[in-house]
Amino acid sequence: MSETTPVYDVGAPEPQPVDEELSMKLGHLAEDAILRAKPNGDEKCSNCLYYLDTDSDLTYCWHPKLRILVGGDWWCQWWEEIEEDA
Ligand code: SF4
Repeated sequence: MSETTPVYDVGAPEPQPVDEELSMKLGHLAEDAILRAKPNGDEKCSNCLYYLDTDSDLTYCWHPKLRILVGGDWWCQWWEEIEEDA
């Protein structure tokens, strides 16, 4: 830091109302989907039809009731098998 850089005391960062709103919305969404951050036996996001990029550990789930980022090892009740000839 140079001597001319002003230092402002902005306090410790804290969640804003929008963060609490989003947290609640996403919490309900996860609850409805029974979304878990771990596989359910052999079923997991990375081998689900709705997992967009199967080469990635984290990607977009395009299930119409979710449309969020999910981890490859996660699972939800809407898991669907990828058809071999799809
Ligand atoms: S539908 Fe469920 S299991 Fe499938 S990718 Fe989305 S969150 Fe994962």
